[in-house]
Amino acid sequence: MIWSFGLNDFQEFPRNLNDGVRNQRWQEKRRGLKVNIVRVIVIGNNVAGTTLAKALRDSDPNVDIDIYTDESMPYYPRPRLIDYLVGTVQEKDMPFYPADWYSKNRLSLHLSSRVEKIDPAKKQILVEGGWHPYDKLALATGSGSFVPPLKGLPKEKVFTLRTMDDARRIKKAAAESKHVIVIGGGLLGLESARGVCTAFPHLSVTILEYAEHLLMKQLDHEGADILQGWIEKTGARIITKAETDEILGAASVEGVKLKDGRVIDGDMVIVSAGTRSNMSLAKDAGLKTNKGVIVDSSLRTSDPSIYALGDVCEFQGQVWAMIPPALDEARVAAKKMLGQPGLDYAGTVPSNTLKVSGFDLISVGVVRSAHEPPEPGFEEIRAVTADGSIYKKFVIKEGRMIGAIMLGTKKEAVKVMKIIKAGQPVEKIKAELSDPAYSFS
Ligand SMILES: Cc1cc2nc3c(=O)[nH]c(=O)nc-3n(C[C@H](O)[C@H](O)[C@H](O)COP(=O)(O)OP(=O)(O)OC[C@H]3O[C@@H](n4cnc5c(N)ncnc54)[C@H](O)[C@@H]3O)c2cc1C
Repeated sequence: MIWSFGLNDFQEFPRNLNDGVRNQRWQEKRRGLKVNIVRVIVIGNNVAGTTLAKALRDSDPNVDIDIYTDESMPYYPRPRLIDYLVGTVQEKDMPFYPADWYSKNRLSLHLSSRVEKIDPAKKQILVEGGWHPYDKLALATGSGSFVPPLKGLPKEKVFTLRTMDDARRIKKAAAESKHVIVIGGGLLGLESARGVCTAFPHLSVTILEYAEHLLMKQLDHEGADILQGWIEKTGARIITKAETDEILGAASVEGVKLKDGRVIDGDMVIVSAGTRSNMSLAKDAGLKTNKGVIVDSSLRTSDPSIYALGDVCEFQGQVWAMIPPALDEARVAAKKMLGQPGLDYAGTVPSNTLKVSGFDLISVGVVRSAHEPPEPGFEEIRAVTADGSIYKKFVIKEGRMIGAIMLGTKKEAVKVMKIIKAGQPVEKIKAELSDPAYSFS
């Protein structure tokens, strides 16, 4: 069992902080004595699991909280991995909370502790041969990088970026490479490309996007064209409608072959083709799953004692795989798990303030019509500054703003997000939205 990665507090932090007291209370509870204690186990210590643990502690000073994770480092925000690649954040600065935060909040964090099995009938989990009982269990097992079934795999110097270990490996390989090929022109692909090329200016990069434009989730065609132009000016090559067929080379990478026969030379590949929910524990336990573990508006799974949140859960057919929903879900789930009054989860308007390849991007809610031609009452209003440095698009349905893109500016992002989240009518200001200088009062 690895307990630390060099943080003294973790080395000193006992394995079973409250176990003496806790086991006594547990025995009393088992004997039927009235003891007001709930034992919660959280599996996963990234944003969903850690935010849940914090919300549980904030809501109840007595509840026992154990967090199990197979990672060797306390919670670090994954966007920080890009800063680590760039070199602006060092490994010691990755954790989000100070080292003593867990002990101060009486959260028992079990690092490098993979949960092997859940026994829902006996309400216990299996870790390294030992069973641990729970009253309530939260699955915050997140997701993992998806690698499409490409020809030529496995091969050295083909990477995905999800964890600190991945980032370390990528950094080491990038230092020794000349040309990196990034498969996937989504947020993570673009950011990974920026990360390695900023840290290692000798590297050249080609980004391959399967779809017709970059950032299909966050941008429309017009916005993506503008962004592509900006990124290409930094020296990166971008190929859209590029379907990868094969990773070329014997033991190590020599290039990538596309389905249309084109060959792109390169000696390192980063695959950034999306994620898939980590559902094996849930499936083995017999929980209902689809693309994720299916939850209701209490974040409860098909087992009433087991909750799921973050990238692993599916709510109303949607797996968000983003930070803002994980935060919302954690706050709701904490109250529900403790049986305290609280709001139901009603979904999250996907909104993100991002830096993509060094450029500001705000993408909120619906960014394009789901139908072609758009249904009646659906409008799109665009605004571009004369020098092309700012692109805005507002999506309106039946007089209310339901989505927006702001590229090249962060100004007024908070106001726009509020208008969208509140479903505020925008009929009166609609005519002015096409003015790039328009300011929301
Ligand atoms: C480089 C990068 C940048 C990103 N940037 C953004 C961004 O700017 N904005 C945004 O909204 N999103 C971003 N994301 C996505 C975001 O990080 C995820 O949506 C978020 O991390 C999901 O959190 P989670 O806690 O649900 O799951 P995860 O972060 O996947 O964490 C799940 C944890 O559970 C552990 N676990 C899984 N199974 C077990 C088991 N059996 N036993 C023990 N532990 C287990 C895993 O090891 C992991 O530590 C980014 C992702 C990456 C990789």
